[in-house]
Amino acid sequence: MKTQVLVIGSGAGGATTAYELARAGVDVTVLEEGKRHDRAKTYGLGTTEGMKHLYRRRGMTPILGRVPIGYVEGSCFGGSTEINSGFWHRTPREVLARWQAQFDLEGASPEELAPHFAWAEEALSVSLSGRPFEKSTEVFARGAAAMDWAAHEVPRAATGCKSTNSCAVGCPTGAKQGMSISILPRAEAAGARVLTSARVRLLIKQGSRITGVLAEVELEDGARKLVRVDAEHVFVCAGPTETPALLRRTGIKFHVGDTLRIHPMLKVVARFRERIAAYDSVLPVLQVREFSPEVSMGGAFFTPGHAALSLSDNWDPARLDAIENMAGYYVAVRGRGRGQVRSSQLGDGETMLRYELAEEDVVNLSNGLARLATLLLAAGAEEVYPTVQGMAPITSEKQAIRWLDERLPRSALSLTTVHAFSACPIGERTDRCAADSYGKVPRWDNLYVNDASMLPDSPGVNPQGSVMAFARRNALHFLSRLGPS
Ligand SMILES: Cc1cc2nc3c(=O)[nH]c(=O)nc-3n(C[C@H](O)[C@H](O)[C@H](O)COP(=O)(O)OP(=O)(O)OC[C@H]3O[C@@H](n4cnc5c(N)ncnc54)[C@H](O)[C@@H]3O)c2cc1C
Repeated sequence: MKTQVLVIGSGAGGATTAYELARAGVDVTVLEEGKRHDRAKTYGLGTTEGMKHLYRRRGMTPILGRVPIGYVEGSCFGGSTEINSGFWHRTPREVLARWQAQFDLEGASPEELAPHFAWAEEALSVSLSGRPFEKSTEVFARGAAAMDWAAHEVPRAATGCKSTNSCAVGCPTGAKQGMSISILPRAEAAGARVLTSARVRLLIKQGSRITGVLAEVELEDGARKLVRVDAEHVFVCAGPTETPALLRRTGIKFHVGDTLRIHPMLKVVARFRERIAAYDSVLPVLQVREFSPEVSMGGAFFTPGHAALSLSDNWDPARLDAIENMAGYYVAVRGRGRGQVRSSQLGDGETMLRYELAEEDVVNLSNGLARLATLLLAAGAEEVYPTVQGMAPITSEKQAIRWLDERLPRSALSLTTVHAFSACPIGERTDRCAADSYGKVPRWDNLYVNDASMLPDSPGVNPQGSVMAFARRNALHFLSRLGPS
């Protein structure tokens, strides 16, 4: 097969790239490893089924390190946008200024990015819910008010959300604007070809060019076939972990895969006196950002399974009897540690992730837990169960507040994350960047990265908005250099 531009991956970065290029009349092919699913049959199923269909490795992608961290990402038509919660942020002004200072990142001031954010916000109908808060949000708002902390409803790409509590297993109503329902149909209408069940194994190099890729395609009968796709230009948008992994498998390693960043997240379950039924409604939609960008707090996806998992660190099955009165919340930190993306040693082509928490991460998680637990107690929670092994439930402000001055035991932390980035940082500093400010990989005439892996450092907010705005900016920059076809 031949194509003018090959886009690898159909998530936030890949879909945006494919749409903008196809719209400009470029011949675009997208190769997506995951499957294209029938929403009516596959979305909104139970967690185990949902993970089987929509997640990489059925949701089992640990980040190794002295404190292992549970990580998941999407692998399907639309990528992680199909399983995310749709929370939307623009990259904070201060974070952009830091990227400029640390990476010499060009063309990325709030003003320069504003039209790209505005485009994405319109395309995804990003808005506030406009409805009364569900109980799990209402109690969080009550706690924040008692603490006198500002708690903002985060806009979401989910207008008309029916509160089915299915974000993480694919929105069955189509309210959440994952790429499968928002940008990819537009890209296809503009002429882009999207081939699913096609995992790119290697980029093919010749001189200073990438001439195409080798992809393993799964046929309808389950057989696998290796195919070659020739391309004039290649955009790698395989997500925060697979983009660096693919480049490294191809032997492109310069500042690639050495700077994985994440938002480490500590969850708690809170038990209230009143009925919350958090498993029956959309997750809490407020975030406290008083302590941002280093620390933020909000609501977590909550099902009986998630409750059991969170409580399992200090297991007492009787606690689950009160599940009707429970809801899940998190504290997330702008991780200052650093991770790596590497190929597994087993020769199976799989990706291995490592991350070491920085001391600052532990301090911020400790402070964050102190504040989150205090807020929840002020909201009326009787007990707060943190995912810290060996820690008794927090039942008083005194027990909560001690973590402002003490550190949580690192080895007892059960952490998770769904936000990864920065393993191929962009910018003009050749001593630390894998690609230039617009995603072009140096030394290669026609190779680009355009997904979460390009964010120079952790954004400190939910990243999809940043990924889409940067991806669009880069795609338009590429077009301006391409000239008339
Ligand atoms: C559970 C969850 C909740 C989240 N909640 C939010 C939220 O509320 N708000 C927010 O802003 N962000 C959220 N995020 C993060 C956000 O979804 C991601 O930052 C964003 O989707 C990253 O975009 P991307 O294009 O880099 O990667 P992805 O969207 O993950 O897309 C990458 C795609 O590339 C494909 N791919 C990988 N390797 C190959 C290969 N070799 N060949 C072909 N295809 C390949 C993958 O299958 C995948 O479909 C969440 C993420 C998760 C997992």
